[in-house]
Amino acid sequence: DAYLGAIDAANDTLNAYVAVTHEQARDMAKASDARRSAGETSALEGIPLGIKDLFATEGVHTQAASHILDGFKPRYESTVTANLWADGAVMLGKLNMDEFAMGSSNETSYYGPVKNPWRGQGSNTDLVPGGSSGGSAAAVAAWLCAGATATDTGGSIRQPAAFTGTVGIKPTYGRCSRWGTVAFASSLDQAGPIARDVRDAAILLKSMASVDPKDTTSVDLPVPDYEAALGQSVKGMKIGIPREYRLDGMPEDVEKLWSQGIAYLRDAGAEIVDISLPHTKYALPAYYIVAPAEASSNLARYDGVRYGLRVPGKDITDMYEQTRAAGFGREVKRRIMIGTYVLSAGYYDAYYVRAQKVRTLIKRDFETVFADGIDAILTPATPSSAFGIADQDMAADPVKMYLNDIFTVTVNMAGLPGIAVPAGLDAKGLPLGLQLIGKPFEEETLFRTAHVIE
Ligand code: GLN
Repeated sequence: DAYLGAIDAANDTLNAYVAVTHEQARDMAKASDARRSAGETSALEGIPLGIKDLFATEGVHTQAASHILDGFKPRYESTVTANLWADGAVMLGKLNMDEFAMGSSNETSYYGPVKNPWRGQGSNTDLVPGGSSGGSAAAVAAWLCAGATATDTGGSIRQPAAFTGTVGIKPTYGRCSRWGTVAFASSLDQAGPIARDVRDAAILLKSMASVDPKDTTSVDLPVPDYEAALGQSVKGMKIGIPREYRLDGMPEDVEKLWSQGIAYLRDAGAEIVDISLPHTKYALPAYYIVAPAEASSNLARYDGVRYGLRVPGKDITDMYEQTRAAGFGREVKRRIMIGTYVLSAGYYDAYYVRAQKVRTLIKRDFETVFADGIDAILTPATPSSAFGIADQDMAADPVKMYLNDIFTVTVNMAGLPGIAVPAGLDAKGLPLGLQLIGKPFEEETLFRTAHVIE
């Protein structure tokens, strides 16, 4: 009731939730109370969570913040949310996001932008919470849920976590099942939690992760007790600092907090090693070929027949066209056009195949440093702190918006785990995050190391 009250009081301003499931939340909480009285408590018993609108929730609003899924209420539950409910968690509602998870500011949502609960010192400017999991990050930061689900295709868990002073982890590709999560770019998409601290993130990921026969890319490895990794020493661990992440013109505060993070780890006994990831500069352009290519294919299913919105037309082709014209927003249409172009017969080899080769090179960069004994890599999470809603520069040039992902996309391209952890505040008084990147399925190392920094 306290959380529902907080949502009702703040959501008109923040716009973090697109649907609040009052009744369901109370029913689930009652059922949880009953289990408690019977002495049957689970890991997340009674913990109230917000769910990104990308996760299918049975009988409940699931629209990926898009108009084209108007009125869609799935008859099935995503594996990730089913895992959470099986552990006793309670659903408060569905969280706002960029449409189909395409964006870095939560401004492409059909439901309008989310406000970051943070503002710069002495400033009245409303800031974005980052994206695409902007609703998840804002809701956690503003105490409108105890934790949230999110997804990350190119940075959508880590960048909003960094912009709101929260913790977000994108686990290794295959750690969580993608079944029942609306697909954006299937070879990059991964679910993960956004939480108030590293411990909460560890507890939530333990519950979300599982192998799943319904997603053949999910991996059959035991899910460790991530929480147990907290408090373990980082003494003797080798932390890589990639020189390619020192960008020209990077704000001084980002540089400063990065150095501070390095100092914390060194003081805790870790060895700091300069490393090189030479193909880093190609990650962003390659991502913006691979991700739209997969999106153009995944989004072909929204045809006005199977789900959501249908705009009548004079014949079936016209109906498809009218539905897609009215149902998709500008950014989604841009991605479909880019994706269709790079997959088309004449350009497939020049763009798509080449981007896939670059992807392999990026992956090899990481394999090489890990083979050299590096345990984890420390970088800034984002090149700046949160920017203003309706930023003129970004609106005029979508590529400026894409640059937000410069430190995060490499991790998705390589399928590795990455965590964003609060690093401190910049001169404007806004949170900045650091990112730790780990070896495949070594999320424990990330939790352990992030806990030293937070
Ligand atoms: N901002 C990136 C994009 O727009 C990443 C989004 C994501 O991780 N879902 O594609």
